[in-house]
Amino acid sequence: MKLWKPLAATLLLLSIGHGALANDNPAAVTQAPNIDSITLEDIKSDVTFLASDEMLGRETLKPQALIASGYARSRMERAGVQPAGENGTWFQTVKFKYNTWEATPTLTYTRGDEKGELKYAEEFVSTGGAETSLVYEGEIVFAGYAINDKSKSYNDIEGADLKGKVALILRYEPSSWMKAGRNPFSRNAYLQTKEAQCRAAGAIGVLMVTGPESLGGSDNRRGLPSPEAGEKSPPLQLDLEQQAAPDESLPFFHISVAASDKLLGGEGATSKLQKAFDKGDFSQRPDPSKMSVKLTAKSKTVHAEDRNTAGMIKGELDEWIVFGAHHDHLGYGYFGARDARTAMGQIHNGADDNASGVATVLEIAEALAKSGKKPRRSFLFLTFTGEEKGLLGSSWYVKHPLIPHEKVYAMINIDMIGRIDQHKLIMDGTSCSKVLDRVCKDVAPLFPELEIGFSDQPPMPASDHWPFFSKAGIPVFFPFGGINRFMHTAEDDADTINYEDMVPTVKMLYEIGWRLSEEQAYADYTGPVKDSVGPDGNPRDPKKSSNPEGEQEDGFSAK
Ligand SMILES: [Zn+2]
Repeated sequence: MKLWKPLAATLLLLSIGHGALANDNPAAVTQAPNIDSITLEDIKSDVTFLASDEMLGRETLKPQALIASGYARSRMERAGVQPAGENGTWFQTVKFKYNTWEATPTLTYTRGDEKGELKYAEEFVSTGGAETSLVYEGEIVFAGYAINDKSKSYNDIEGADLKGKVALILRYEPSSWMKAGRNPFSRNAYLQTKEAQCRAAGAIGVLMVTGPESLGGSDNRRGLPSPEAGEKSPPLQLDLEQQAAPDESLPFFHISVAASDKLLGGEGATSKLQKAFDKGDFSQRPDPSKMSVKLTAKSKTVHAEDRNTAGMIKGELDEWIVFGAHHDHLGYGYFGARDARTAMGQIHNGADDNASGVATVLEIAEALAKSGKKPRRSFLFLTFTGEEKGLLGSSWYVKHPLIPHEKVYAMINIDMIGRIDQHKLIMDGTSCSKVLDRVCKDVAPLFPELEIGFSDQPPMPASDHWPFFSKAGIPVFFPFGGINRFMHTAEDDADTINYEDMVPTVKMLYEIGWRLSEEQAYADYTGPVKDSVGPDGNPRDPKKSSNPEGEQEDGFSAK
């Protein structure tokens, strides 16, 4: 966060300013009622429960995700928060669907007078969750890396007649193209790019081998992802009334080098072919009439439900401050784990991600409810399922809002504030609203034990605030402790959480929420939803609004 350093200087400036004014400027002290009821013990007990082994990593659609949501409910109910879910309940049902195999896919092949069968999971496997209904008998067509890159005048798919056929392709791209650095590959290497190239060429299915000359290709099996991942924790989609465009993606299988050799004509055949294609020599493309397969792969769509949790504290106004955090995590790490190679099958407890965020929402809800004070604006407290599966719980909420979006003043999404490093906290996305930015910068100096970083970049599409910002046109911000080595690993446990820095962070977020509830100005919004209207009935976009915050405030930075 390059803004870190200079901002710290400005902050310092500010806090001195505020300190000096402390005794006669109410803004220089916290105003949120009962703020000192926020304690390390409370936070720790929430995180410890949610991230316990018994919670099995709180995977969406598993019973433990429901228990996590039930825990949020009971904590809020005990504190005196009111249910805000469907039909007076504490919950909002979220409908999911996913694909699973009707029967294990089979693949038999004929090469000359040699016949054989590939073993599923051992020699070929599918990780995709696309709806598949494939019964194919016919030729296999080798299409190289399925790359058509004019900038490199390299097109190894052109010479392959893929119409109505199954393609056999190489993963990644010619090794000579690889770049140094975190991502050595170009878009040509992306699975989606290859799948799209094959689909455009008329193929009806794809077998892809990680060639011996490519990364990790040396060990036959290394290139083959575990089928468990796709089966035990399939990719999920929202089961919406108006179905999104059907997923046209082709049935896609990874095959091992040994399997590819069997199809291509014997041991070393894949390596020989890859070396030729790496040099742009496509003359060795095998004659498809020499090899045919029978491939059956039929999936069925399963419909299932999980839930978001919703509590509220009504204020004077029917205008709402939303605090949100996701309660789901990776379960046994069959998907999304950064340590899949070493820790797949182990409980990924998700203490920082995101028991820390849920604890924050619960602690703030409790502090406000037990204060007995009626806030000016109303508060909605949400915990989401399905975040790790693609921001699905919050996307469902935004498509089925419990409070009309135009009545929402702002949304604060907390994700991963349990591993703040050297007291540094990132307030991502405040730049989408001058009012939010001002209020956050007013409050930050009241917590000098933290170093708060702000960015002029729009909110990162990294967590549940994103559907609120990008689809509902609501001003948001996302306090975030930063990427850390524990993230999405089996080591993200409750006993290594930095609770000391969580306490001032939770208090600061409560103070910001309280001040937004008291704020006279309506929060502006700069983002992709151009026609967003706020609780005052005016366009949120300052360029359209009759009383944009910008003009008034410009003097702020001049101080
Ligand atoms: Zn996560």
